[in-house]
Amino acid sequence: MYFKQITVGHMGNFAYLFGCEETKEAGIVDPAFNIEKLIETAVNDGYKIKYIFTTHGHFDHAGGHKTVAERTGAKIIAHKKEAAILKNKNIPVDIEVEDQDEIKVGKVTVKIIHTPGHTAGGICLLIDNQKLLTGDTLFVGDCGRTDLAGGSSAELYRSINEKLKVLRNDIEVYPGHSYGGSKSTIGHEKATNQTMKCKTLREFEELP
Ligand SMILES: [Zn+2]
Repeated sequence: MYFKQITVGHMGNFAYLFGCEETKEAGIVDPAFNIEKLIETAVNDGYKIKYIFTTHGHFDHAGGHKTVAERTGAKIIAHKKEAAILKNKNIPVDIEVEDQDEIKVGKVTVKIIHTPGHTAGGICLLIDNQKLLTGDTLFVGDCGRTDLAGGSSAELYRSINEKLKVLRNDIEVYPGHSYGGSKSTIGHEKATNQTMKCKTLREFEELP
């Protein structure tokens, strides 16, 4: 599988490109900054961007969607609960997804895992059952904040416990920001990430 993690902007953001080596179709995840560089990278690598995935609607993750769509003709994908927020920002959503939906990018399968808590319609993307793109839900050693609009510590606690901790330990974790590191695994985070080790919501809410 084609896969690239690309540092963009000035807030430690990661955008991602991934694709099918046979069909040369690609997905782009969270294009917000350095749009020309992202599109050029895909083109130079021989890939056509077919879909734009949105881990969530904050500007540092979705700010470049319209430009990428206009330049490539790619379709914008977001969770149905995030779609209204994007539309309010004048970002049209072509495909609204829900938990457990699957999108095919060539022969690569992207499974949608709804993980509300940082925002109501936040999602993680499980690519070919091996790479998990966690947006601002989970960082290396930490989790996303819950004090912004649509955030909820109870929901994030539930998402972490019911949606992420149940995944295989060898699944690779690729976060939406470089806070704490650029890459990990579910097993390593379960062992070391304080937000994954909490046994109660109260413990989770009392973390510094
Ligand atoms: Zn965010």
